[in-house]
Amino acid sequence: MRQFGNFSFTFFHQISSSTSSVSSQGSAEPQQFLTHKLPNKPWFFYIKHNDWVKLKRKQENRQFKSLNWTNVIAKGIRTVHPYCSFGFKRHTIKGLGSRKNCPAFTCSGYCLFEDCSVQVDVKVESEYSLRADVIFHGDMVNHRWDQLKRRPIRSHARTKISKKLSSKLPRQYHLESLMKLEEDVMESGCRDDVPTTGVLKNIAYSERKKNRLHENEMISLQLMSEKEEDNEEKLIQKIILQPKGLMLWSKKTKSLFHQRSKTDVVYLDATGSVVKKDKGQSAPFYIYELVVRHPLKGCSPVPVATFVTAEHTTASVSYFLGSFITDCMRAHGRLEH
Ligand SMILES: [Zn+2]
Repeated sequence: MRQFGNFSFTFFHQISSSTSSVSSQGSAEPQQFLTHKLPNKPWFFYIKHNDWVKLKRKQENRQFKSLNWTNVIAKGIRTVHPYCSFGFKRHTIKGLGSRKNCPAFTCSGYCLFEDCSVQVDVKVESEYSLRADVIFHGDMVNHRWDQLKRRPIRSHARTKISKKLSSKLPRQYHLESLMKLEEDVMESGCRDDVPTTGVLKNIAYSERKKNRLHENEMISLQLMSEKEEDNEEKLIQKIILQPKGLMLWSKKTKSLFHQRSKTDVVYLDATGSVVKKDKGQSAPFYIYELVVRHPLKGCSPVPVATFVTAEHTTASVSYFLGSFITDCMRAHGRLEH
């Protein structure tokens, strides 16, 4: 095993192929581990005053009732040691109004990587300074090169991410977080700051569900449609209950179609994997879109009518096109070609 130098900067160069390690199954196949020396002197970080105030609101006796403290502490530890992903075992807080000379907060945790023996103790002596002292135990960081670990996303961290997901797709958020990772953290396998696309999709889905007008999505759509009935921007045109389907267009898109289709081509486009399949439903949902070229050169094409459906038959698509064209003719008269 090589000798390791300075803690902060040498991780990337210290990736060792521990050929002496043998897998736990007893196979003779050598496994590669990413190893790293632990900081040998105590480290610290400061808890933000705001975070502490929020945590204290959830104090009951000598415990926090919300798990948000694990987010705050893990985030702090990452500023001094970003390579291990920590789970926490226990914590204690100084009792409210207690005059005892005990720390304001203590907790201990362990690295989630199976082969890593790193443990951590965190102690906040005073509520005034909110300085959190960190002591690491264990031989050294030892992560299997093909293993990734991340802390579960809970409590406030979930809310924060869901706000960002209102303007970003889960996949995009995932890739952007991955790009932000330092190279040595990337090598360590710790993905605390990079939630999987699946987890992000779930967070986005539960947030959207909260904003629904009714628990049942079809009733919710019906209510949305009724709400925009007299609205100039009305978008929902038809809700089909069996099999489930939805047609969308607006006064503006009808007008755009009317202008563009006089002189230009119109495309019918179909996209899958956007809407999740229902339980027990055999065919996937597709999104059919009638698309025209943008009036301005160089701008992206514009969908003028959208049909979300799981019924992929000529009859179904003709019904969509027929409904849209009929509605257009009602508004702008017959198209001349
Ligand atoms: Zn570790």
